[in-house]
Amino acid sequence: MKTKSSVLLIYTGGTIGMMQDPRSGELKPFDFKSLTKQIPELTKFDIELSSISFKKPIDSSNMNIVVWKDLAGIIEKNYAKYDGFVILHGSDTMSYTASALSFMLENLNKPVVLTGSQLPIGVIRTDGKENLITAIEIAGAKEKGKSIVTEVCIYFEYKLYRGNRTFKHNSAHFDAFKSPNYPALAQAGVTIKYNKQALLKSSSAKKLKVHTNLENEIAVIKLFPGISKNITAAIFNAKGIKAIIIETFGAGNATTEVWFLNEVEKALAKGIIILNITQCKEGRVIQGMYETSSQLKKLGVIGGSDLTFESAITKLMFLLGQKLKPNELKKMLQTNLRGEMTS
Ligand code: ASP
Repeated sequence: MKTKSSVLLIYTGGTIGMMQDPRSGELKPFDFKSLTKQIPELTKFDIELSSISFKKPIDSSNMNIVVWKDLAGIIEKNYAKYDGFVILHGSDTMSYTASALSFMLENLNKPVVLTGSQLPIGVIRTDGKENLITAIEIAGAKEKGKSIVTEVCIYFEYKLYRGNRTFKHNSAHFDAFKSPNYPALAQAGVTIKYNKQALLKSSSAKKLKVHTNLENEIAVIKLFPGISKNITAAIFNAKGIKAIIIETFGAGNATTEVWFLNEVEKALAKGIIILNITQCKEGRVIQGMYETSSQLKKLGVIGGSDLTFESAITKLMFLLGQKLKPNELKKMLQTNLRGEMTS
């Protein structure tokens, strides 16, 4: 029986593995071998570590559905062989990838930990070393032979978060992520303290199911006082559109101007899904709390509770890809599938 945990490190790119181009001064991804050379500590782990690198590492601003499919495919292919997975990823879109993977990987019972850094690994003050080393430790951590963490997470600056609850809130501080509506899953100090109450319960009896069909015919309307009728109408009536996220004010409130409600009604009548999430980073949508959201509820707009924007968009991509009947899709949208929302 093997005693050592095994972890697969998947390098996608991001600042952690970037170097400054001597000519232009721009930060560009470099190959993975150079990364391991920078962290000799990786060879000292009591964990069997293997790695896979994207042939062409990317800045995470170039992340897309095809790359998410590849990533989910790598995990599926290697799922039986490893106890956990660490994905090195740029921080810019890390919360989107973590959210997407949380929906794509159903019945996950091993850790998938995304991490990266704000400073490249070759820089003396880099935050990358600690992030990577602790992420590996978490991905390999077991209790009574079972993985402690069985979900898609982000580890950054001493904290482990549920990935689909996070967003990047700071482009300058090491502490780059926030999860205001859900507590941290672990805190790393002298030891790693797991918040066991907050961890998702493993569904170990069920087999991993990987969903790679994602659809992106989704538009986003961020409301603001004085929003243009013509431009908003153009979005509501865009060709091929299947779902619209409306980013509303406060607890899910929107203008009650007739033209706006008419567009909402027309779109719903055409079978377009409309999801209401709030521009507030904390708190949640409660349609019907104010007069300015009651009409949305009556028309059939779906309240997104405390879904982050990142989770809302990837949950819609995932559900649209499932080819569900409209009522089933609406029901799933309001159901807490992977710990992403307070239902
Ligand atoms: N632009 C980089 C990326 O997201 C930033 C980072 O890695 O933190 O790939």
